[in-house]
Amino acid sequence: MSHNTELTYRYLDQNRKLYGNKIFLDSQIVNEPIQNIDSLESFNKSICECLKCDLGHTRTNFVFGVGNPNADIVFVGEAPGEKEDLIGEPFVGRAGKLLDKILAAINLSRDDIYICNVIKCRPPQNRDPLPREVELCEPYLKTQLSLIKPKLIVALGRIAACTILRTKEPLKNLRNQIFKYEGIDLLVTYHPAALLRNPNFKKPAWEDFQMIRDQYLVKN
Ligand code: URA
Repeated sequence: MSHNTELTYRYLDQNRKLYGNKIFLDSQIVNEPIQNIDSLESFNKSICECLKCDLGHTRTNFVFGVGNPNADIVFVGEAPGEKEDLIGEPFVGRAGKLLDKILAAINLSRDDIYICNVIKCRPPQNRDPLPREVELCEPYLKTQLSLIKPKLIVALGRIAACTILRTKEPLKNLRNQIFKYEGIDLLVTYHPAALLRNPNFKKPAWEDFQMIRDQYLVKN
């Protein structure tokens, strides 16, 4: 069997497990969480062979997400980069290391929170996700959120925020506001890669994280 035929079989099998013996045409895709899934682990297993868009053919690894399945806070980035694609985990490159440091500054580690991306596979050359890729992948994010049930979603960077919120506003207009996504509070802050590129963003980003700490972390 050729590699492509094998991938197609695996993909159809995965779809059968998720949706039953019906073939869903693209026009029937519903932007809703997937039903009948009981854990993040089983959800990951059921979608990690996804070939709904072309990114499934170019990825090295499907990057589902990591962290505490009962987290109060879920951080959502845009899409995996090169390192994430190679390792299969979100935010493992330089930007991820900086995110870890910022989290530590508000007494959080990766074990306390959950981290994932809107798009689960790396776009070639790290280009912005296409609307079609978002349409096909966003139900996965919604399902993750319906399983985790966090108190807060933090969108990291303009692309993640604008994609989720369906807006074209600049990031500075989106900060300091509480939005709702899937009924959950959502805040927007800088992408850690933007902080590496422009240290002037570090102060406002730190203010955002202090706000997250003061408003959403339980005080002991
Ligand atoms: N940038 C993102 O938005 N997500 C990652 O996982 C890594 C870098």
